Amino acid sequence: MRAKSALGLLLLLNGAAVATTATAAPQSLDCGRLLDVKAGVWRERVTVVVDGGVVKSVAPTGAAKGDIDLSGQSCLPGLIDMHVHLTGESHKEVESLRMKLSQDVADDAFRSVAYAERTLKAGFTTVRDLGAGDGLNISLKRAIASGAIVGPRMYTAGTIISTTGGHGDGTNGLSRELGKAVGHPTPYDGVINGPDQAREAVRARYKEGADLVKITATGGVLSQAASGQNSQFTDEELKAITATAKDYGFRVAVHAHGVEGIKRALRAGIDSIEHGTYMDDEAIALFKKQGAYYVPTISAGRYVADKAKDPEFFSPVVRPKAAAIGPLIQATFGRAYKAGVKIAFGTDAGVFPHGDNAKEFAYMVEAGMPALEAIRSATLNAAELLNQGSRLGSVEPGYAADIVAVSGDPLKDISLLQQVRFVMKDGVVFKR
Ligand SMILES: [Zn+2]
Repeated sequence: MRAKSALGLLLLLNGAAVATTATAAPQSLDCGRLLDVKAGVWRERVTVVVDGGVVKSVAPTGAAKGDIDLSGQSCLPGLIDMHVHLTGESHKEVESLRMKLSQDVADDAFRSVAYAERTLKAGFTTVRDLGAGDGLNISLKRAIASGAIVGPRMYTAGTIISTTGGHGDGTNGLSRELGKAVGHPTPYDGVINGPDQAREAVRARYKEGADLVKITATGGVLSQAASGQNSQFTDEELKAITATAKDYGFRVAVHAHGVEGIKRALRAGIDSIEHGTYMDDEAIALFKKQGAYYVPTISAGRYVADKAKDPEFFSPVVRPKAAAIGPLIQATFGRAYKAGVKIAFGTDAGVFPHGDNAKEFAYMVEAGMPALEAIRSATLNAAELLNQGSRLGSVEPGYAADIVAVSGDPLKDISLLQQVRFVMKDGVVFKR
C-alpha cells in the first residue's frame, strides 16, 4: 500500500494526477450507469467501492455521496488492446530508414514513455505488446509496474520470433556491407531456422522476461521484404514453438496474412492469429475447431492503405504491400465475425499514432459487429485470451479496479469510446 501512496504523490507532483490521491483507504465511485459486460446490460445508478486496487463491491447508489462523482457518466471496465507496439510509432519510412541509422535504443525508450501515457489516457488500462527489439517493451513494462512512469498494465512478447528474411528479421533490407557488420541474428535476437532453434528462441523469451510468444508466420506489410503473405515457418518449426511455449506457460500470438501460414499456425495449436487478412472458409473452420482467437487490427490496415497513396510515406518495397493488404482486413473481420470466430480487440497501435486505439471499435461496428460485442472483445474476450479472465475485463468484486467512463451511451454511439473522460487503473485515477 505504501507504494501506491508514493505513486499518488508522484503523480501529483508531475501535475499528471487528479483530485483523488491514491491511498490505502477505500474509495467509492458513483456511476450514472455501469456496463455489466457479462450480462450485456447497463446497471443504473451504481456505486463501486474500490480498495487496494481491487473492486470490493458493486451496489445500487445509496443516500451517501461517493468519493468520485461519475453520476452523469457511463462506466465501463478498462479497455484492453491485444496488439500494440508501445516502443515505436511509424512515420514516413524514407525518413525513418535514414533516422534508424542514427538512432539509439534510448531514443525509442524515451519516446515510448509518452506513447504509454497516451494509451492509458485513451482508456486502455491493459495492453498486450507484441514485439520490440532490445527488450525495450519488457523494460517499459517494469517501469510502468513500478510506478515510475504512467501507462497501461502490459503483457509483452519481448522479442518477436521470426525466420531468416522473415517479417521480424530486423536486418532485412540492409546492404551486404551493413549486414556483415551487424552479423546474422540468432534465436536470442528472435530469428530461427529449424525446430531446435525454435525451441531455443522460446526459451530465450522466457529468459528475457516475456509473458507470451509472438511469431511471424507469414510475410508482413512493413518489413523490407517482397512478400506480405508467404509462409515463413515450417510445420515442424511451428510445432516446436507451441510445444515449448506450453512448457513455459506462454500463449502464442501469430502474425499472419497469407492463408497457408494461417492454417499451419492454427493446426499447430496457437492461441491467436493477428491480422488474418487472407483467411478462407477452411481457415475459419479451423479457428472454430481449435478455439483460437482472431485479433483483426482493422485500424492498421486502414491506416497503411491510406498512407500508401502518399508516394513518399513508404519505401518502394513496402508501398505495394500496404496498398494491397491494408484495405482487405475490415472485410475479413466482417466475414470472420459472422461465421462465429472468437474475436479479441487489437489495433497494431504504433503502425498508427498511439492513443487512437478506440477508432477500432467504430471500424468493427461498421463491419457488422454490434457495439456490445465490440466492447466485449476489448474486455471479456481480451482478458480470456490473456488468461486473466478472473481478474480483468469486468467491474465486479475481486477484479482489478480498472474503470473508464464516457458521456452518453456507447452502445448507441460507439464513437463515444474515442472520448474517454475518466480512467482508473488498479484503483488509481489517471484522468478525470
Ligand atoms: Zn504488430
